[in-house]
Amino acid sequence: MTKRVAIIGSGMAGLAAARVLRGSGASCVIFDKSRGLGGRMSTRRVGDLTFDHGAQYFTARGPRFAALVEEWRSGGVAAHWFGEAIVGSPGMTAPARAMAQGFETIMGFEVTSLRRESSGWSLVAGEASHGGFDAVIVATPAPQAAPILAAGGASFPALASVRYAPCLALMLAFDGPVAFEGGHLRPESGPIAWIARNSSKPGRNDSAKTFVVHAGPEWSRAHLDETPEAILEKLKRYALDLIGAPSAPIYAAAHRWRYALVEQAAGASCFWDAQAGLGACGDYCLGPRVEAAFDSGEAMARAVLESWGVHVAA
Ligand SMILES: Cc1cc2nc3c(=O)[nH]c(=O)nc-3n(C[C@H](O)[C@H](O)[C@H](O)COP(=O)(O)OP(=O)(O)OC[C@H]3O[C@@H](n4cnc5c(N)ncnc54)[C@H](O)[C@@H]3O)c2cc1C
Repeated sequence: MTKRVAIIGSGMAGLAAARVLRGSGASCVIFDKSRGLGGRMSTRRVGDLTFDHGAQYFTARGPRFAALVEEWRSGGVAAHWFGEAIVGSPGMTAPARAMAQGFETIMGFEVTSLRRESSGWSLVAGEASHGGFDAVIVATPAPQAAPILAAGGASFPALASVRYAPCLALMLAFDGPVAFEGGHLRPESGPIAWIARNSSKPGRNDSAKTFVVHAGPEWSRAHLDETPEAILEKLKRYALDLIGAPSAPIYAAAHRWRYALVEQAAGASCFWDAQAGLGACGDYCLGPRVEAAFDSGEAMARAVLESWGVHVAA
């Protein structure tokens, strides 16, 4: 009988797990609280403007991720940006959309609890639920995974040691010329750690100049709980100096990433309670990179399959 797996989280880890499971005949349903796929590989669209306000690019070191990235490049959903940096095209969500093809995805569903029933696991979001799953994989950041796993009776103590750096992000657009001609900049001092001229990435429209600015971890921590308006005003001042814009931006907004970059990883590629049929994976298992999320998701699927007696080639 086909096993049914619920995957909570449509970021790189959840999608990587889903692909391997499907390859071995399991049926996966992917749930996410957001409206869009991709998790932190995200793109905000405002009219004709687009901003990759989360992950800026990715690199591929291992052969399995490199092979998938090559597929994306030849299929036009990813492109080379600079050095070893690859971006989704036309936005960072494009690879996630390609990976999710053919899966049932249930978006806008924030899982708050799990219930064990005679037909299997049920995922609960307020009054709504979806049931009949043989296994549940929680592919969210560790602090968001812990209460869901606890509701299902699973406990992976290593998740409590995971630490993330937050990141306060700024999105800016200009319809006139700006002094900043390059693609990206990493200032050596000051609150800003990274500026990208988003519109200079391959596959984007550079007629309006769009920028994504990331504050460094220290500044982000110190200002994390301020209002979006206060964050916007403070970061904008620093950013405008670096961008050199003679006129005011036509669009400006701030975004708070509470769990942005893994600072302290869990040190295991995934977590799986075979008896309960509950698992957890994500970048936090291995490190602060898209590829780490991919590796963790694939390891998760392999652990599930092996516990069902299905051998998967590495
Ligand atoms: C500002 C920023 C810059 C970055 N820059 C880079 C970079 O340049 N290069 C790089 O390699 N990596 C970068 N990263 C890190 C990279 O984005 C992550 O490592 C990777 O995308 C994590 O994937 P994931 O699947 O583990 O988690 P996520 O992408 O976070 O996916 C988790 C998903 O779970 C969903 N979810 C959470 N709780 C629930 C719930 N209760 N119910 C349902 N769904 C839920 C979320 O909505 C989300 O879609 C950056 C991240 C940020 C935020």
